[in-house]
Amino acid sequence: MTDESETAENGSGDGPTPTPGIHHVTCVTGDPQRNLDFWVDTLGLRLVKRSINQDDPGTYHFFYGDAEGTPGTSMTFFPWTDLPEGEVGSGQVSRTAFRVPEGSLDFWEDRFDERGVDYDEREERFGETVLPFRDPDGLPIELVAVEIPDDDPTTAWTAHVPESAAIRGFHSVTLWIADPERTARLLRTMGLAETESEADAATGDERTRFAAGGPVGKYVDVVEADRQGRSGRGTVHHVAFQTPTDADQSAMRDAVASMGLRPTEQIDRHWFRSVYFREFAGVLFELATADPGYASDEPLDELGERLVLPGRFEERREAIKAGLPDVTVPRSDAEFAANRAD
Ligand code: ZN
Repeated sequence: MTDESETAENGSGDGPTPTPGIHHVTCVTGDPQRNLDFWVDTLGLRLVKRSINQDDPGTYHFFYGDAEGTPGTSMTFFPWTDLPEGEVGSGQVSRTAFRVPEGSLDFWEDRFDERGVDYDEREERFGETVLPFRDPDGLPIELVAVEIPDDDPTTAWTAHVPESAAIRGFHSVTLWIADPERTARLLRTMGLAETESEADAATGDERTRFAAGGPVGKYVDVVEADRQGRSGRGTVHHVAFQTPTDADQSAMRDAVASMGLRPTEQIDRHWFRSVYFREFAGVLFELATADPGYASDEPLDELGERLVLPGRFEERREAIKAGLPDVTVPRSDAEFAANRAD
């Protein structure tokens, strides 16, 4: 089901190792408790890391993922309560889509009805069914029904949503780009292959799909759209792509720089090492390594239980904690009982 042939053009030594796909997506939210309630309790993702924004330690950084925080599953948020509401527009990630098992969209519509979640009619896109909805900040999200193979690299987190419906990592991101040619060239350089185009069901805009190796976080869709937007609550801050090793990342960095883009030096983000750059249309891209991962500094069965502060911030723990609002991570009854039994 993985089309190695599609991405082989950059794997033969004349370019960087193709990215396997999306690593994480980071967004701006408002109220941290509302964000936790929605992403953990309603959508059923696991809080795999509770930390701070390393560039703004007075703000939380929440990481939601599958049961193990597998690369390609983590949606992360900066709760910037004071920031105005954003508006999705060109030069942004306009939609973030997650994989859910085939046959589970009825479950999700029922759940959204029960909980008052704002969702739209299902759409067909490249032969798959898509359920668009918005989180409490208005962030546009989609569920895409796909066949989840037995050997899928993700692991369902079933504290709030049954395995038959659980979100299994990213499906895709959609970029709105006014003049997509150079962005398309960048995606090809990063090892994604252009596969097909169709008119977007919602807007009629031209949508072109680019595929990485996958299976998780496999697709980037580029929609040719010229719409005014602004960053703020309810918008995506950046999308990170997997460059599993330092060597992969360094080669990708060189390739990006040789196109005239301006990547940062490697930055240690504690759970991965990162390089950032704005692509040609202004979308902030990141390259992230696979290691050391979210389970490198707390036991797998305790991920997200406590505030984790990367090295240099630990000595300021009391002051940092005092500046953060109190939050409670939603627990299912079963999860609560299991934790008490320990
Ligand atoms: Zn990031």
